Amino acid sequence: MMTCKDVERFLDDYLDGSLPFATRIRFEIHVRMCAECRPYIARYRRAIELGHKLLAEPPEGPASEAVPQELIDVILKSIDES
Ligand SMILES: [Zn+2]
Repeated sequence: MMTCKDVERFLDDYLDGSLPFATRIRFEIHVRMCAECRPYIARYRRAIELGHKLLAEPPEGPASEAVPQELIDVILKSIDES
């Protein structure tokens, strides 16, 4: 069974779609069942979408590009506020 720590560790890979299928399933099961991870993931997703909008980038932009510091700031701020 995946733990909350695993979810944190796999989150980036999950969001950019590079998580292996079996891991992805376990990730989603944990998130669905865990009252702590569910809102955490939801907030994180919103923050990512907000970041894409601010940078006027398509959501499917290249995942290998370096993440601009401004985007990290926006994400952290958004997570703090919600
Ligand atoms: Zn959890």
